Amino acid sequence: MRKMEYTTQMDAAKKCIVTQEMETVARKEGKTADEICNLVAKGWVAIPANRNHKSLSPEGIGHGLRTKINVNLGISRDCNDVEMEMNKVKKAIELKAEAIMDLSSYGKTYDFRQKLLDYSPAMIGTVPMYDAVGFLEKELCEIKAKEFLDVVRCHAEQGVDFMTIHAGINRETAAHFKKNPRMTNIVSRGGSLLFAWMEMTGNENPFYEYYDEVLDILAQYDVTISLGDACRPGCIDDATDPVQISELLVLGELTKRAWEKNVQVMVEGPGHMKMDEIQANMMLEKKLCHNAPFYVLGPLVTDIAPGYDHITSAIGGAIAAASGADFLCYVTPAEHLRLPDLEDMKEGIIASRIAAHAGDLVKGVKGAKDWDDKMAKARREINWEEMFRLSIDEEKARDYRASSQPEVEDTCTMCGKMCAVRNMNKILKGEDINLI
Ligand code: SF4
Repeated sequence: MRKMEYTTQMDAAKKCIVTQEMETVARKEGKTADEICNLVAKGWVAIPANRNHKSLSPEGIGHGLRTKINVNLGISRDCNDVEMEMNKVKKAIELKAEAIMDLSSYGKTYDFRQKLLDYSPAMIGTVPMYDAVGFLEKELCEIKAKEFLDVVRCHAEQGVDFMTIHAGINRETAAHFKKNPRMTNIVSRGGSLLFAWMEMTGNENPFYEYYDEVLDILAQYDVTISLGDACRPGCIDDATDPVQISELLVLGELTKRAWEKNVQVMVEGPGHMKMDEIQANMMLEKKLCHNAPFYVLGPLVTDIAPGYDHITSAIGGAIAAASGADFLCYVTPAEHLRLPDLEDMKEGIIASRIAAHAGDLVKGVKGAKDWDDKMAKARREINWEEMFRLSIDEEKARDYRASSQPEVEDTCTMCGKMCAVRNMNKILKGEDINLI
């Protein structure tokens, strides 16, 4: 049981109290609990762990830790099959996603969220803005500023571990947006809704205006704030423009204010972006947001591949992770086209996990290269069972092998008797090679 000598993980860390959650993270990452405690105190690592999420197996996100991935799911007005979404939850956990964001925006979101929280050892995130209209049963323009906070409180009480709050799109950022026309305007769902609300009511962004009250709610349950990037670029041409950067400056200020109240922070980032801009963007976020963990939505490195955006995103995600991003939001082949089905989700998770691991190899994350070394050894020894076991998608690897049987068992049908691995093993052992 968590002792009440502290309010949040960050509060505990600042008091040099090592929590159970820190011990779990330390064990998973091969670090000491004191190391994790120091990183949480500085804000460089977040452990999203709502005190009401009882089924959680906590994970750390941030500096020096394994890159984590998030899976988005949830019901929408057009696709509201709760059972299907629960199947996706089970699949996401089976495929080792560390986080699930419930982006439900229609119907009984409370009940679905509760099911998710009761079941999931993965951390759970939400975007309260998506739920506002349904929760409050009001048209967007009729919602009063402080009513948005009621949605935040409801999600926090239920046990949500992290929440995307688009507090950075204040009136000043909105003015930058109007002065600097973009090819794809604002593509963040929550950001566009907030911008619309601000335009319709003439008011300041409620999450910015009442930021301290939002933080008080989050601190009470130890919810990590994921500072949403409403102005993330939605196409290559909009990347790294004044609007994106002006919002990032605000997110840096909001990061510090959250830490002052012991609320853990992650900062969300792009979006769509050319490969040669990614590293600079990672550096800018770490610099302007004081090394807060960076959660990237992509980046998709080209705009021209609908149906293959798990690949455009994995390329960007790998570069981002190698350059310091800590948390990758998966993208599926269905991106920009429809709500993903189970198969889309699997493709997206595997692509994202590959990107995260590729980044971890560059970051030098403890244990990352061991996995590759074991696979290399299994390949050299032509140990198919071990190769399957080590595969990021074991099922797919087995299916491929089974679908095309070679004449000689220790080869595959690509090269057959000309198998370089087999022939090198033989020749180095002093055996002859017969190709006919
Ligand atoms: S047959 Fe060719 S592709 Fe297959 S394991 Fe041997 S070297 Fe690799």
